[in-house]
Amino acid sequence: MTATIIDGRTVAARVLESVRARVAVLHARDVRPALAFVLVGESAPARLYARRIERQAQPLGIELRPVQLPADLTREQLDQTVWDLSQDESVDGILVQMPLPERIGDADLSELIDPRKDVDGITIQNAGRLYLEMPGQFPSTALAMIELLDAYDVDPRGKDVVVVGRSKVVGHPLAELLIRRDATVTVAHRRTRDLGRHTRHADIVLVAAGQPNLITGDMLKPGVVVIDAGMNPTAEGVVGDVDFEAARQVACAVTPVPGGVGPVTNAVLLRNLVQSAEWRHA
Ligand code: NAD
Repeated sequence: MTATIIDGRTVAARVLESVRARVAVLHARDVRPALAFVLVGESAPARLYARRIERQAQPLGIELRPVQLPADLTREQLDQTVWDLSQDESVDGILVQMPLPERIGDADLSELIDPRKDVDGITIQNAGRLYLEMPGQFPSTALAMIELLDAYDVDPRGKDVVVVGRSKVVGHPLAELLIRRDATVTVAHRRTRDLGRHTRHADIVLVAAGQPNLITGDMLKPGVVVIDAGMNPTAEGVVGDVDFEAARQVACAVTPVPGGVGPVTNAVLLRNLVQSAEWRHA
């Protein structure tokens, strides 16, 4: 079997078209959606990410406001900045660069960001809403992985689904979204014994572990759908967590890296921002 290559860029373009239309409605009401992106210290990847989001946001009429903080800032300064942005009426969404420098510690932003501005679903309110199956803002990578399934008419309902990774920003919220969609979900993580024993039975495998080549061809059932969020920098460029060449021989559909989950995540983030602006200005 040669798999369908899931085209994240096309799916992202479709999401961005819907964002454009919603922004136009907001503009007509004099609302100009603005996303504040808090960057701490000098991080080339974070700057690159901010610039990429800006390039997508600007033509849609969304303002990106980078908030650059010094690397030697204190936890109190960071908290104050986030608090001020939460109070700032002209800001619709707040994104904080992760991971934060170790010195600042595990800053508990989940209680500082206004939940209505929480475009990546990290606050306790939005995490609770996800768990309680209520509307809310949810992490964009997890939403992007679901978006890709939907775009290719892969319905998780009743399917055996394995999520590899249980981070607060990707794996765990993804598992919750899949439970909402009536999938039978297994969540694997670093301590899972014999990962292949689980993945080999899955109809859908979604991976966010940050381990290149973690999922090899022999760990997949023929006809499986594979969604790979992994982004691992290597000498040969960025690779995912799945051995793509092996997977495409076994799977019926698979995402490439790059060009799979990444572009859809950025588009979904902007959709979340527009959602925040709509809620705030309802
Ligand atoms: P994380 O380090 O916070 O979490 C990784 C998870 O994977 C953990 O739950 C860990 O237990 C699990 N894991 C690690 N090794 C494993 C193994 N050998 N077997 C099973 N599980 C294992 O990482 P994260 O923030 O969730 O990101 C995961 C990956 O997704 C990274 O490569 C990251 O760059 C990528 N990512 C991509 C996007 C995107 O837009 N495409 C967004 C966020 C993260």
